[in-house]
Amino acid sequence: MQCEQFTINNSHCKVIKHILIIEDSDSLATHLKEMIDEYFSFHCEIATTEEQAREMIRRKRYDLVICDIYLSDSSGNFLGELVRSELGLMVMTGNENDELRSGILTLPIIDYVLKNDAKTLVDYLINSIRRLNENRNTVIGICDNSNVSRKVMVELIKSQNLPYVEFVDGQEVYNCLVEQNFKIDVLLSEYDIPTMNGLELVRYLRHDFLPSELPIIAISASDKPHLTVQFLKAGANDYIKKSFGNEEFCTRLNLTLEQLYVNRRNTALRIALEKAATHDFLTQLYNRTFFFTQIHHITSDAIRQNKPYGILMIDIDHFKRINDTYGHHAGDMAIIHLASILKNTARTSDYCIRWGGEEFLILIPHSTQEELGKFAQRLRVAVEKSVVSVEKENLVFPITVSIGGVVGLKETPAELIQQADGLLYEAKNSGRNCVKVQL
Ligand code: GH3
Ligand code: MG
Ligand code: MG
Repeated sequence: MQCEQFTINNSHCKVIKHILIIEDSDSLATHLKEMIDEYFSFHCEIATTEEQAREMIRRKRYDLVICDIYLSDSSGNFLGELVRSELGLMVMTGNENDELRSGILTLPIIDYVLKNDAKTLVDYLINSIRRLNENRNTVIGICDNSNVSRKVMVELIKSQNLPYVEFVDGQEVYNCLVEQNFKIDVLLSEYDIPTMNGLELVRYLRHDFLPSELPIIAISASDKPHLTVQFLKAGANDYIKKSFGNEEFCTRLNLTLEQLYVNRRNTALRIALEKAATHDFLTQLYNRTFFFTQIHHITSDAIRQNKPYGILMIDIDHFKRINDTYGHHAGDMAIIHLASILKNTARTSDYCIRWGGEEFLILIPHSTQEELGKFAQRLRVAVEKSVVSVEKENLVFPITVSIGGVVGLKETPAELIQQADGLLYEAKNSGRNCVKVQL
């Protein structure tokens, strides 16, 4: 959601894909190109002289230029030229000289990289390119009522390909994030801001957001002796003392972003693992593990509310014949087809489970025998009226199901499942394509 008066600035953000490596050592340039290309499936280009680089930049718009500071045809002001062309720029140097470093770091570049050894250099560059691309989707909130200070931070944030939104007082950040659900990913907040100081803001925000959900970097020029530790104890993820150098600001911000990205990846992984453990791969319905780990919540709710729950066991008729006649793939398609009918016919409060093979169980949290019988008939008819189509093989065939169902109020469902299974067996014996619900 977007706060009315706040806009996310992201017009400067871009996908980093077209990369120019300017490096006069052929072997290093080729190595970097090969490693980056392989990692990202890119196609980096190489220039080995200033002249060649000028010509290439004239012809093509690069998203990122990785440039060695000393080239054999060095004219002395090439870096200035590159800066003026407003390309994302990472500068490589083999010479860690303090004066040179401070000179370079006053320029609006993305980073300054030491050419220690090839492996460290490649890892650092690949990590930076990956992060720059990930940054495009990470909104930074900056809260500082000094226009000058905000402008400095905005330029550095823009250099890292990050979208941003500006605030000037603590209360507006709080209202925006907590009351209006405005989404930012990282907050940078000055201590000395109007209406609610940075420390109070961190304390209040931590009622609603964990440090892993909303990292906060506190910033201050204050000489108060315990401010750093107060911020950290209140839940700030980091603290930057003003006035900071560009390199320190970006490095600290990048460390916080890396942690955020690790958390995001871990969360995505956990969700994927939970899904794989509780769902059937073929149909994406729940599996038995889900049923046995969740059933006690459902049955104890039912008992507490004194509302019986229903169980339907559903089995495809003569499924073996389908496999034998049309092949195993067509059999799989029939299972997927039935799963989608079950899902579409059941209510969202019902649980559709692939019990095994071509057998399914539906758990209906609140039901009566009459409702269960009607629901089972609706399912049976929906399946009977439908056809399975296997497009690739230009194949269409019908299927039918037999269903057994019971309603009960037992703490553990084993007995009810057994009864439903018995009724399913009766349905099979009554000629199949048939429903038997406990009377
Ligand atoms: P009935 O009408 O009595 O239910 O007969 P049926 O042929 O459907 O039942 P039976 O239990 O004899 O056969 C089930 C077959 O389902 C046997 C097994 O090879 C097959 N099967 C089990 N899981 C899968 C699967 O994931 N995909 C496919 N294609 N076949 C499966
Ligand atoms: Mg069967
Ligand atoms: Mg079966």
